[in-house]
Order: sequence, then structure tokens, then C-alpha cells
Amino acid sequence: MQTQLADWIKGTPEGVEADAILRKCVHCGFCLATCPTYNLLGDELDSPRGRIYLMKQMLEGSPVTARTQLHLDRCLTCRACETTCPSGVEYGRLVDIGRGLVEAKVPRPPGERFKRWFLAQALPKRALFGTALALGRMVRGLLPADLRRKVPAARPAGAWPAARHARRMLVLHGCVQPSMAPSIDAAAARVLDRLGISLVRVPGSTCCGGVSHHLNYQREALDYVRANVDAWWPEVEKGAEAIVFTASGCGTMVRDYGHLLRDDPAYAARAARIAELSRDISEVVAAERTAVSERTRGRAPQKIAFHSPCSLQHGLKIRGLVEPILADAGFKLTHVHDAHLCCGSAGTYSITQPELSKQLLKNKVRSLESGRPELIASANIGCLAHIQSGTPTPVRHWIELLDERME
Ligand code: SF4
Ligand code: SF4
Repeated sequence: MQTQLADWIKGTPEGVEADAILRKCVHCGFCLATCPTYNLLGDELDSPRGRIYLMKQMLEGSPVTARTQLHLDRCLTCRACETTCPSGVEYGRLVDIGRGLVEAKVPRPPGERFKRWFLAQALPKRALFGTALALGRMVRGLLPADLRRKVPAARPAGAWPAARHARRMLVLHGCVQPSMAPSIDAAAARVLDRLGISLVRVPGSTCCGGVSHHLNYQREALDYVRANVDAWWPEVEKGAEAIVFTASGCGTMVRDYGHLLRDDPAYAARAARIAELSRDISEVVAAERTAVSERTRGRAPQKIAFHSPCSLQHGLKIRGLVEPILADAGFKLTHVHDAHLCCGSAGTYSITQPELSKQLLKNKVRSLESGRPELIASANIGCLAHIQSGTPTPVRHWIELLDERME
């Protein structure tokens, strides 16, 4: 694609990056077929190619309007289009740049501004979110049905094994997951302990920064990123092998730390090293698959459906790792059609775009339940909570299921 960037953006770091991405797009339109919002709305401007045109126009100096903002807001940042694109267009990076520029040029109505500010402040703060969730659980029965379905029942975490192995990995503690489902990280710690690896929580590590980043609070997002780099670095120097995440949504953010802090001389090298060391829990377990399958052989079969989060399959580009581990452990995986499509969770999307999110959820639950599974498994806290809000079938993180099979 030919580009002619306007003087105000030409030569800036964002301009140079956006220009290189835009030039890769050959307008073929293959990405339209796999875009969930285009599938639902049928409007080219709600497709990857349409949004790329909108961003190109803005970068070339055309006026930016609320219409541009609307179509970028409706994008889930699921990155299914990146998986489909034959030209390697890094749409996720481009839309991050585009959204930042639109935010600066198009003021939002006060109510919307407040909602986004509130989400950016409340969700990443572990203690604040934990208190709000505890209150929500106390009055769960009184909440409106929509909200009630989003308040998960408390489940005990179980024991966290003592750090006794020479092999050590750090866990991304995160923000909402420790309150919503502490059992997930504890299950990961138990699974790795049986494989001779200690999973360690590091004081001072915090939200990955993803919530603020996606709501366009970039300064706050980078503060979280720096806090994590500072917290993990001494442990990395002492020989920690990896930074492990059990929420693939957070993982895509950590994998980007090097890129996000590339212009910060005090952090660039450490952030790049942290990104290199980052591992989804599926990558760690897959590397030990023989030992895992020996410990789970002969377990009774159980029919489950696996939902691979967009952040896992499109963001981290991890495909086909979890399913064989679950199959080895005796789970019978049902066929899930349109498995590449987003469930509608997408960070804060279910709050900022509730109608589209609900339609995506309905379609996703229908496809997950088509094979009549006893359980649904996934790999990201946002997807787990969102899918559970649309079905009575229990929805669990796959590492919890594996933990139970290894007991
Ligand atoms: S990120 Fe997802 S919703 Fe956004 S344009 Fe790409 S496929 Fe469509
Ligand atoms: S598939 Fe890739 S090259 Fe083709 S229109 Fe979409 S983004 Fe552009």
C-alpha cells in the first residue's frame, strides 16, 4: 500500500512504525473472513482492512472524527486478522498506535470518559478489585442478572508447594485473577512442583499493564511494566528460568515488554530479556510432556471442549499445545467449530461494547456446547469468567484440570 504520511506524524517513532505496517498491506481482504466484528456487522469499516484504511487516512492528514473512534473501539484486538494475513501485517501494533492518536484528537463524552478512567484505575489494583469482588459475592443474590453472572463463586486455591527445587520460575501474579480464581496459579504451582520446578510469587509484581494499555492509559501501563521489571529482575539475576503466566491475555502484554520500553534507556535491555524469558504455562508443561503423560496415564475419560483464547492462538501464536496434553491426560476433546473466533471478552470489551460482546458470547457458547461436553476448558481468566456467564456448564482453566488428574 502506498502511503504519504502527514508532516505532524512523519519521522516520529509511531509514524515510522505505522508506515512500515501500512506498506505491507496489499488490500487483499483475506482478513475479512476471520474478523468477528465484520462477521457480525457486515460493514467494511468494522473489518481489519476498513480500519487500516481509516488509520491510513488519519495518518495522511484527513480529519479524525467520532466515526473513526467508533470503528476502532469496536475492534476486539483479537488479532485473528494477523493469523489470516498472508502479508504479515501487524495489525495489533497498528491499532495501538491508531487508538492512541484518535484518543488525543477526539474527546469522548464525560460518562464514557469516566467509565474508562474508572476501569483503568480499579481493575489493575489487586486489593481494590479483591474488596469489590468480596462485596459483590456477599450481595450476589441481589445483583441484576447480567452483573450476577459475572461474579464468580469463590473456590479454594489449595496448597502452594514450598520452593524446594533447583529449577525456579517466576509467576506473573497479575491483578484480577488472584481474587477471581486463586486456584489457577496454585494449580500451576502444584503441576510444576511435580515436574521438579518451583513456581515462585515475587513481592512487588503487579498487573501486567494490559488493562491500562488497552484503555489507552499508556503512561500508567508503562508504570506497571516498569514495576514488574524491577520486581522480577533480581530473581532473574539469581537464575530464575522463566516468567510464567497462566492468563494468556497478560502473556501477550509481557511478551511485548521489550517493544514497549525500547526507547527507555534505563529499562530497554532488562525489559527485552524479561520478554524473552516469558512463557505461557502451556509452553512449560509441553516441554515436560513425557513426564506429564506418565503421571496421568489410565485416568477415566471425560468429554470436554477447549476454547483457545485469541491471546493464546493469535496473540502469542501458540496453537495445538494444550490439546494433546489434555488428550494424554484422558480428556476427550469435542470438535469446536469457528474456534478462531473471539468469545467477546477481550479485556474490558464486554463492558465497553456490551451488545457486540453478548452476541459473540452466544455464538461461542453454542459452538462450545455443540459436542455436549461435561466441562469447558480455557486458558485466560477473562474468557473463563465471560464464557461462564453464558452457560451452566462448568468452565475451568485447563491447568486446574491437569492438576486434578496428576493428584
Ligand atoms: S483484531 Fe479482531 S476484531 Fe479487530 S480487526 Fe482484527 S480480526 Fe477484526
Ligand atoms: S489480509 Fe493482510 S494484506 Fe490482506 S487486506 Fe487484510 S491486512 Fe491487508
